[in-house]
Amino acid sequence: MASDISHYINGQRVAGKSGRVAPIFNPAIGQQVTNVALASASEVDQAVAAARRAFPAWAAVTPLRRSRIIAKFQRIVEERSEEMAKAVSQEHGKLLTDARGEVQRGLEVVEFATGAPHLLKGDYSEDVGTRVDSYAIRQPLGVVAGITPFNFPVMVPMWMFPVALVCGNTFVLKPSERDPSASLLMADWLKEAGVPDGVFNVVQGDKEAVDALLKHPDVSAISFVGSTPIARYIYQTATHEGKRCQALGGAKNHMVIMPDADMDQAVDALMGAAYGAAGERCMAISVAVPVGKKTADTLIEKLTPRVRGLKIGPGPDLEAEMGPLVTKAHRDRVHGYIDTGVSEGAKLVVDGRDFKMQGYENGYFLGGSLFDNVTTDMKIYKDEIFGPVLSVVRAPDYDTAAKMINENEYGNGTAIFTRDGDSAREFAHRIQVGMVGINVPIPIPMAYHSFGGWKASFFGDHDMHGPEGVRFYTKLKTITSRWPVGVASGAEFSIPNMS
Ligand code: NAD
Repeated sequence: MASDISHYINGQRVAGKSGRVAPIFNPAIGQQVTNVALASASEVDQAVAAARRAFPAWAAVTPLRRSRIIAKFQRIVEERSEEMAKAVSQEHGKLLTDARGEVQRGLEVVEFATGAPHLLKGDYSEDVGTRVDSYAIRQPLGVVAGITPFNFPVMVPMWMFPVALVCGNTFVLKPSERDPSASLLMADWLKEAGVPDGVFNVVQGDKEAVDALLKHPDVSAISFVGSTPIARYIYQTATHEGKRCQALGGAKNHMVIMPDADMDQAVDALMGAAYGAAGERCMAISVAVPVGKKTADTLIEKLTPRVRGLKIGPGPDLEAEMGPLVTKAHRDRVHGYIDTGVSEGAKLVVDGRDFKMQGYENGYFLGGSLFDNVTTDMKIYKDEIFGPVLSVVRAPDYDTAAKMINENEYGNGTAIFTRDGDSAREFAHRIQVGMVGINVPIPIPMAYHSFGGWKASFFGDHDMHGPEGVRFYTKLKTITSRWPVGVASGAEFSIPNMS
């Protein structure tokens, strides 16, 4: 077995000393391949101390120089993206083709960050009073930490650290303990690009490491992405500790299919959005809401053979459309939800439970499953399943569909498929969800916009990356200045009013 996956502190890989490790599996073959170290609070403290020492010098580097270092990192990742995609595919199980896409989406934020000097420009008002000027500048927070989920081990950290670093902060990443290898590649390549030691650190770990970051007095801000119960806990604890926090949680994303929609286009969109990455995406569509009986019947008729015919395979299979789930425990959990759906009375049109991948019988595979006649009181509707399971909830009319989405606990992403501009506009305006697609099933904003859901899918004020990311990782300072040319007044005791 390969040696344990280490931490990365002050510019070098550092073996874990806590004596605690977690197993890392190859989900396609269902075998443990190595372990990852789990940091103790004192190892977290070493990483934070390194980041704290590195902060003053890094903050003093000009934004342009910082952005050029990040631009070099971008070139390195572009050259070696295949190595990174393979590392992701092996530990996560997602298809290599999908892992390549993930690296690309992460790189878009890296590219955005190279333009940060523009976003850090600030504002200047001349003559807010006679010979008095006022200007606002954005300055870094200090040491900031990122805690990330298993499903995007490259893209989600890249939503955070490129923006944090160009803004002048130093960073401690706590990646998912299920697929941690990509974090060390990012650390090595940042160093090669010219990021000074201590500016970017990685602590591998679980709750113990997370709690140490949350409680550490030298950590100014926490960025978190993961499930809703943990996001809520992170937000409450971090803000209680006086830290700035953005915590992105889980999701239950609906796609409304209007009677006038192009059904073939809608079915194609649903296949990719529900079953791509085996449904392990926070923006996956897990609920299809056809409006009207005829739309629903046509949808089921067209979806059924497509779900039955899904091409399933291990990561390197370039023909496959879906890979295994991340761990045996997660596969069994999703399996359990399909059992629950059946006992709740939903109609299981396609059953993926007994799927066995030839040659990979021990892998954590499931086939695609499709439920019809799901109702909003069922557990399979309410809970985030995070697997290749699509529920169809039939709606008699548009208002019922919109009300259902608005009343759902989550508000990450949603989509409407229609040919009618009026319905689309009404949907975009009225729906209580943070990211909306119109004939686009997975509306992930580009890097120069910001990413974030509403309701139980997001806790905090600033979304990730784009302009909101820059606001999150900087604090605003406003300066009012007057130079004493010909100023002859004495002390003023009433509030200054610039008259
Ligand atoms: P998770 O919540 O189990 O873990 C996320 C992170 O929290 C990991 O780093 C993990 O080590 C840490 N963690 C786990 N349990 C903890 C605890 N008790 N205390 C402190 N820290 C803890 O999530 P996951 O299974 O890795 O990822 C899947 C989830 O993430 C899904 O719910 C998915 O919707 C969500 N997600 C959301 C977004 C988004 O943008 N909203 C993006 C990706 C994933």
